[in-house]
Amino acid sequence: MTRKKMVVANWKMNKTSAEGVSFVQELRETARACGKEVDIVIAPPFTALRAVATVIGLDKVKADLAAQDMYFEADGAFTGEVSARMLKAEHVDYVIVGHSERRQHFGDTDEIVNRKARAVFDAGMTPIVCCGEPEEVRDEGETGTWISDQIHAATESMTSEMISRLVIAYEPIWAIGTGKTATPATAQVTCELIRALVAEKFDEGVARTMRILYGGSVTQFNAYVFMGENDIDGALVGGAALDAESFSKIVQAAC
Ligand code: PEP
Repeated sequence: MTRKKMVVANWKMNKTSAEGVSFVQELRETARACGKEVDIVIAPPFTALRAVATVIGLDKVKADLAAQDMYFEADGAFTGEVSARMLKAEHVDYVIVGHSERRQHFGDTDEIVNRKARAVFDAGMTPIVCCGEPEEVRDEGETGTWISDQIHAATESMTSEMISRLVIAYEPIWAIGTGKTATPATAQVTCELIRALVAEKFDEGVARTMRILYGGSVTQFNAYVFMGENDIDGALVGGAALDAESFSKIVQAAC
């Protein structure tokens, strides 16, 4: 089964609208060359979504738009939050949910991650659900159990149809923004486990269709080896996605 590669630029709390627009303009040629083989996804902060969507549309850039988070309720008295329906209206295609920075700093629990992911599907978009273990869990050799718990919780009450569209990002927490990476072989072991867990809980066919990304200090120099592993279908990139040239090289590695 060939799954289309996906490379996601997570800008986190970086870039104004104008900076986002320049980035997309610089990415345009790479997107033209690689956009058929790779789904290129840009996740700006909320404030730059409209500007980035506009430049993608006007300049015909082959890229999709992602939000970095959202709240699961449709609307109401939730000051500071945005809903899936609002993001859909801004031409958002994907929403990242359960990023470890949201879990760590903003209290997103497994249950919240699941509710957010289901709300993303309900609004007609695709969630990119993040999972990953902290360093002490890895050191105790408990990565498998940790990931298994996160995957079961995140996929609670989902249908097989949702799972076939779901994107999972495996991001060991100790590798995010640290310059340390899992070895491609260990990342592959965990991504293979994620696919096996989904196959067991849903079915083999949907598990084979579902894309799994690796994230954690991916750069233009190591992207190629990660994406060469059987169960790694792309990358979720933070730091190296702030510069259009280095992100373009990661996209080129994918295609
Ligand atoms: C991320 O933002 O999810 C991430 C993996 O960041 P970095 O590439 O900087 O480690």
